[in-house]
Amino acid sequence: MVPLLRAGNKTRSLKQVRIGVIEDPNINAANAGGGEFYITTGLLQKANDDQLRGILAHEIAHDDLGHVARAQVLGTGLSLGVILLEQFIPGSSAITPIAGTLVARAHSRSEELSADRHAVEILERAGYSKNVMIDALVWVMKSSQNDGGGFLSTHPATTDRIDALRRL
Ligand SMILES: [Zn+2]
Repeated sequence: MVPLLRAGNKTRSLKQVRIGVIEDPNINAANAGGGEFYITTGLLQKANDDQLRGILAHEIAHDDLGHVARAQVLGTGLSLGVILLEQFIPGSSAITPIAGTLVARAHSRSEELSADRHAVEILERAGYSKNVMIDALVWVMKSSQNDGGGFLSTHPATTDRIDALRRL
């Protein structure tokens, strides 16, 4: 995630970036504003590196573009339990998830399309192709079809989004 953050438009110090991992089997991720992100254990466990990279680039893009974010975690009496970025590597040990439910505002279709476009810029600056974003969306669509929550509920219109990316 570090190369992606460095490829974003914001010159945030990595110390200002915080990532909360939420105990939730759904595949989801959210930008809470101010360099704060949430990802679910479902995303961490099910995504391969490229799929995770695409989803994170998309969330960083929302942050870069200033899309209003109201993500929060409900039902937790614990402190945020945010982990250090350096620890945030798939497959690494020592991830302590936050108990609770991720509540995030759904982004509009136009926000999604612009975040996807900007995510591709971020990926390309970091040395990856736009296919990383396309493949991540295809994967989310296939993996999330049968559950009500998750990424598709807060990041709508996936088929449209994939078509728009292919035309870039
Ligand atoms: Zn989105």
